[in-house]
Amino acid sequence: MVDKREQLYEGKAKILYATDESDKLIAYFKDDATAFNAKKRGTILNKGAFNNKISAVIFKMLEDKGVNTHFIEVLSDREALLKKVDIIPVEVVVRNVVAGSLAKKLGLEEGGVLSRPVVEFFYKSDELDDPPINSDIAIAMGWATEKECRFLKETALEINVYLVEFFDRLGIRLVDYKLEFGRFGDSVILADEITPDGCRLWDKETGEKLDKDRFRRDLGQVEEAYQKVYDLVTHA
Ligand code: C5P
Repeated sequence: MVDKREQLYEGKAKILYATDESDKLIAYFKDDATAFNAKKRGTILNKGAFNNKISAVIFKMLEDKGVNTHFIEVLSDREALLKKVDIIPVEVVVRNVVAGSLAKKLGLEEGGVLSRPVVEFFYKSDELDDPPINSDIAIAMGWATEKECRFLKETALEINVYLVEFFDRLGIRLVDYKLEFGRFGDSVILADEITPDGCRLWDKETGEKLDKDRFRRDLGQVEEAYQKVYDLVTHA
C-alpha cells in the first residue's frame, strides 16, 4: 500500500498528491465543475466519485486492448493510484460527430456524422484558453517531437475505435472527447481521465446529452446524467 504525501497540484477537477514512491501519485477527484476555462464554476454532486470509477473502468478496458495508460488502481471512492507522468501540453480532441467548437467554427448544426474521425490538437494553456494548434506548431515550440505528434494522432484514432464500440454497446453515441498524454520513462502513455467532463455522450435513442454540456449550457439534470453514465459504465 502506497502512502499519500504532500499535495503537488490542484487542478479544476482533481488534486494530485505525491506518494512514498517517486513514480506514482494519487489523484483525488473533486465535485467542482468548471466550464469556459473556469469562467463558469459550480458543483456537481458526487461527480468526483462517478468520474473516478468511470475513468477506471475505461482505462482498464483500454489497457486490456493494449493501450498503455497511467492508471494503476482505484484506492477509494474518489482516489486513484496513477503512474506519475510528465504531461505533454497538447490536448488531443477526437470527433466522430459535429458538435461544440467545430460546429461553431464551421457554422454547422450539431449532430452531423463526420465521414471519418477527426483529430485536433489544442495547446494546453489556461491563460490562452487552450488555443487550436497543429503538429508543426507543437514541434516548433518544443511541446512534442514529430514522432510524438504522430504517435498522439495514431493512438487517438486507435483509442477511438475501442471507445466508440464500448459506448455504443451501452446505448451511447460518442460524439467527441479530449485526451491527454504524458511521458513515462521512454514511453508516451494515455493520462488524465476519460469521463463525462471531457466527452460528449449522447443517448443513442433519444439524443439526450449525458455529459458536461448539461452544466455548460444550463440544461438541468446534470447529476442525473453523470449518474446514468456511471450506472451504464460500471454495469458494462
Ligand atoms: O469545445 P470543443 O467542441 O472543442 O470540445 C471537444 C471535446 O473535448 C468535448 O467533448 C469537450 O468536453 C472536450 N474538451 C475538454 N477540455 C478542453 C476542451 C475540450 O475536455 N479544454
